[in-house]
Amino acid sequence: RAKSSGRNTYMFYRQEMNAHAFERLTLESELHRAIQQQEFVLYYQPKVCLQTGLILGVEALLRWRHPELGILLPEKFIPLLEDTGLIVPVGQWVIEQALADCNQWYEQGLEHIKMAVNLSPNQLKDVKFIEGLQNALAQHQLSTSCLELEITENTMMADGEKAFVLMQQLQQIGIKFSVDDFGTGYSSLAYLKRLPVETIKIDRSFIQDIGIEQEDEIIVKTVIAMAKSLGYRVVAEGVENLEQVNFLKSLNCDIAQGFLFSRPIPSAELVSHLQDLQHQASNLCH
Ligand code: C2E
Ligand code: MG
Ligand code: MG
Ligand code: MG
Repeated sequence: RAKSSGRNTYMFYRQEMNAHAFERLTLESELHRAIQQQEFVLYYQPKVCLQTGLILGVEALLRWRHPELGILLPEKFIPLLEDTGLIVPVGQWVIEQALADCNQWYEQGLEHIKMAVNLSPNQLKDVKFIEGLQNALAQHQLSTSCLELEITENTMMADGEKAFVLMQQLQQIGIKFSVDDFGTGYSSLAYLKRLPVETIKIDRSFIQDIGIEQEDEIIVKTVIAMAKSLGYRVVAEGVENLEQVNFLKSLNCDIAQGFLFSRPIPSAELVSHLQDLQHQASNLCH
């Protein structure tokens, strides 16, 4: 009996593995189709100046408009894009699409909106990255000053020297960098000081517990104080309520981003609702 149960367990395990491998294989071939059929789309989430309530820019967030499953979030497909290296062409598409949308907004008089794009470690290792970026900017007649790149602490530290050199080259052509999800990686503000970084985005997990966990409040307060005194601009991610806004304002945090102001939305919706979003943001920061 023991033997047969062991065997069942083994078969069950093997089937699980197969199901998993199969799912991955399906997803992988679907990703190729998604690229060809242009099933990817960018959503945009506003970033709000806490002192003035002005919308200063947006973050581009990738979505997959799957023909059967609907809109898929990055957590479902970015890991596979990264494993397969497909993140390099898809990341290039993200930059091109973000700049194309940006160009349209500017033509409608929205020149004050800055664009932020997320980067994966593989993109920062790609020697053709700068060239692709510069071509996309030239194509839309945009200057580097409209663009900001968001990278996590771990991306900056992985492959340390290479990433460092590319970041410096990008800085020289006028690109600004933000550290994304700050506080969840292994870097320190002291380490970041070596890198051409201008802005620090405090991870949502710390912001979430403002008004709930005193330790998180102390972390947020300390990070903001230290980052600001070192000359960084500070963004709070995942702001969902007014209590968080007031706490962050009292600490002189520069910028907030979160569902309270707006969920990520398609470009057309952003343009048509910008006045409402701006009005609402001004009220919330008042
Ligand atoms: P991220 O760069 O930290 O982006 C912020 C994430 O927090 C977004 O999730 C956004 O929808 C979510 N968020 C914003 N405000 C709130 C809030 O108030 N409450 C909650 N619960 N969530 C909030 P999303 O769009 O699912 O993206 C997840 C991650 O996927 C991003 O985290 C980023 O690391 C990655 N990602 C997204 N687009 C791209 C891309 O084009 N390229 C690369 N390489 N990574 C991307
Ligand atoms: Mg980001
Ligand atoms: Mg983030
Ligand atoms: Mg985050």
